[in-house]
Amino acid sequence: CGIVGYVGAQSALDVVITGLKRLEYRGYDSAGVAVLADGGLAAAKKAGKLLNLEKELVDRPLPSGSTGIGHTRWATHGAPNDANAHPHLDNAGRVAVVHNGIIENFADLRAELAERGHSLDSETDTEVVAHLLAEAHSSCGELAEAMRLVSRRLEGAFTLVAVHADEPDVVVGARRNSPLVVGVGDGEAFLASDVAAFIAYTRSAIELGQDQVVELRRESVTVTDFDGAPAQVRSYHVDWDA
Ligand code: GLU
Repeated sequence: CGIVGYVGAQSALDVVITGLKRLEYRGYDSAGVAVLADGGLAAAKKAGKLLNLEKELVDRPLPSGSTGIGHTRWATHGAPNDANAHPHLDNAGRVAVVHNGIIENFADLRAELAERGHSLDSETDTEVVAHLLAEAHSSCGELAEAMRLVSRRLEGAFTLVAVHADEPDVVVGARRNSPLVVGVGDGEAFLASDVAAFIAYTRSAIELGQDQVVELRRESVTVTDFDGAPAQVRSYHVDWDA
């Protein structure tokens, strides 16, 4: 339901949790975060209010890192429990993905992945994306390209935001029939399903178009279509009050 991604110099966890709080009004049944730190990826997720997740993070703190993603879930496939909460990870725990929307062809993709030896732990339509991204990344070596390859295989409505432990300074997003907005800061960048998530940090925004993939780094925002062709971006200033 709500999505936040961050890359910059601040604590990614702080920025992501702050952003998720700004999206709480949309309603949700569970929440989770992932951060890249120390060459790896660490995640936490909990059914219920953000407060439950925040308690979990006090009991089991994540290492601090400056690249991260977060999600508040409104379940469509699978019960609202801890296992089905996002982020979803691949089996090696190197990729984390959060998703708004519905992947219509997830059952076929699930069967295909199971045949190739993947074990899927949740009942969601989303989890297939983490596994597909990991496979694509191991063949193409680049998360943005992996996202393009995977997005072309997905049917339905999706906003996807992902990170990979091999690319500690990169957050990648994709969208089809579901909103995704970029916030451009000074040496930092944000991704969110709604500008409300980042207007406390920046008012410079880029709205992504249909079937586009974005690669976010501290100093750059690169947008392409699903085939890799550079896309025209429309930047604007968010002038409404926070
Ligand atoms: N379809 C996904 C799920 O049920 C995402 C739901 C959402 O948009 O929050 O986990």
